Amino acid sequence: MYELQLPPEATDNRVLMHSCCAPCAGDLMERMQKSGIALTIFFYNPNIHPKKEYEIRKNENRRYAEQLGIPCIDADYDVQNWFSRAKGFEHAPERGERCTKCFDMRFERTALYAAENGFKIITSSLGISRWKDMDQINDCGLRAAKNYEGITYWTYNWRKEGGAARMYEIAKREEFYKQEYCGCIFSLRDTNEWRVKRGREEIKIGEEFYSEVNVEKELTQVRNK
Ligand code: SF4
Repeated sequence: MYELQLPPEATDNRVLMHSCCAPCAGDLMERMQKSGIALTIFFYNPNIHPKKEYEIRKNENRRYAEQLGIPCIDADYDVQNWFSRAKGFEHAPERGERCTKCFDMRFERTALYAAENGFKIITSSLGISRWKDMDQINDCGLRAAKNYEGITYWTYNWRKEGGAARMYEIAKREEFYKQEYCGCIFSLRDTNEWRVKRGREEIKIGEEFYSEVNVEKELTQVRNK
């Protein structure tokens, strides 16, 4: 595995990484640690609904952070703020305007924490997922970092150099919980509608784990994308 190079703006080896969940964060955590980067995880995801799902995703991420000896900041679950931001965009499609607001909220808090705690570089695990729009995520990250002098959002493409495939391999090896929808109540609604139309059962919170997933099938989808 090659060594990561921090962006030229870095003045030390510390990085604050917004993490959305253990499966997306796993490869970033391993790669940064192996590259000698002093990583801190910032778990701030008040978008996740219901609370049971939020707790499961958070605890999975904390479990792996503890295993690797990486500090993990457990930020607020200020869900009412999230609903205020999403108001009027309840029916926006995934990757649309609601998601921009959702990323903005999470990255603004990440950048604030970075400014208050001396981090110069921030980034996020969100972009590694093939379901996400990398440009949309990077725009939100850059916008949040711009509010603070001396803070840079690291726009590294985490899917590169085998990252997208390793994400599934680590998730399977560590038997992470496998979330079946992006996170918010609206993505849960839309994913359930999609499943029901195809004759599938609605999502059951807390029941799917990567240990039961056909990783080869997932990897084929990644390679064909
Ligand atoms: S679909 Fe995902 S990114 Fe978009 S608003 Fe919902 S939780 Fe946030």
